Amino acid sequence: MCNNKTIPLSVPNLKGNELIYATEAIEAEWVSTAGPFISDFEHQIAEYVKAPVAVACQSGTAGLHLALMALGVSAGDEVIVPTLTFIAAVNPVRYIGADPIFMDCDDSLTMDADKLEDFCKKECELHEQSLFHKRTGRRISAVIVVHVFGNLADMDRIMSIAKVYHLKILEDATEALGSCYLDGKYRDKYAGTLGTMGVYSFNGNKIITTGGGGMIVSQDPKLAERCRFLSTQAKADSLYFIHEEVGFNYRMTNLQAALGLAQLEQLESFIEIKQRNYKRYISQGIELLSFKENIRSNTWFYSYLAKDRDGLIRFLKEHQVQSRPIWRLIHTLKPYRGCRTYRIEKAYRYYEAIVNLPCSSNLQEAEVDKVAGLVKEFEKSEI
Ligand SMILES: *Cc1c(COP(=O)(O)O)cnc(C)c1O
Repeated sequence: MCNNKTIPLSVPNLKGNELIYATEAIEAEWVSTAGPFISDFEHQIAEYVKAPVAVACQSGTAGLHLALMALGVSAGDEVIVPTLTFIAAVNPVRYIGADPIFMDCDDSLTMDADKLEDFCKKECELHEQSLFHKRTGRRISAVIVVHVFGNLADMDRIMSIAKVYHLKILEDATEALGSCYLDGKYRDKYAGTLGTMGVYSFNGNKIITTGGGGMIVSQDPKLAERCRFLSTQAKADSLYFIHEEVGFNYRMTNLQAALGLAQLEQLESFIEIKQRNYKRYISQGIELLSFKENIRSNTWFYSYLAKDRDGLIRFLKEHQVQSRPIWRLIHTLKPYRGCRTYRIEKAYRYYEAIVNLPCSSNLQEAEVDKVAGLVKEFEKSEI
């Protein structure tokens, strides 16, 4: 099968009630930023991840921007972020006029908690309930923790570091909807609900999609309401156009939410398929990076450590298989060159070796076998 067809890396899977709900929104002519599907979708996400409140917005990036504002991060602050992630996790720091400090990853690809602690201990000082960076004298107000590829960062450690050093934790759970802990302090708790706030994304390649969209969850309902207010142009009075601060047009549309509701109905089945395909790659002899043992990961993306990353990507492309390297380290990218970094070591190694292999939730077993066969063929030819 599919001999002449490209096997994509990660594409939407819209075979549930998407068309039915979207048609309903169109027939009712509720397609914009008001309409019943939006609050339905918010309630259902909140219920699924067991969060007190959820606020729907236009993208994960918009959600991170709003959440940073709600957490009180302000211009001139510094925010600790990972370097091994997608740039959208970091750009919102700059939207606010704050600056990132880049941290290394550990072998789970998520933020190295030991280095985070070391940095706070050695390079910072506490002063009246705030942490200050000794070298710059600036306040460090928050940490953005990214649950890379659906793996969970060590939230137990990170939350206790945050407590000691008075740091707000914003979880970028854009890749980790559905990942949760199976034991320990956070047993049965979901990515996004462990820090003060969390953000999901429904972009086209995420585990569920609304075309584009995001969702903010918060343990403190007041912070979520603040995001909702800012996301709808900060209207103090909706009839008389009274605005007392600068807001944003960041609200999700009813049409997007219609897709979201249909996608959420399938989330658990998508996770099952992703887990099955992940195991199949491994049973075909492809060693993929593992997810943590004490979690149920949504298994969003599969990472393979290649000896010749670019050669493998080229070889797969010649055989109509789409793959990609992991993101370029953000502190090496033009907008962030010269920013403060702290002992970045492992991120370079993973950056150089990781190839993400096809992982869509509609990927067929025969396609997994084909990709696995090609990877093995390439690696053999390399010896
Ligand atoms: C996808 C993604 C985002 C941004 O989400 P959008 O909905 O595309 O704006 C942010 N951070 C990470 C780690 C992502 O993978």
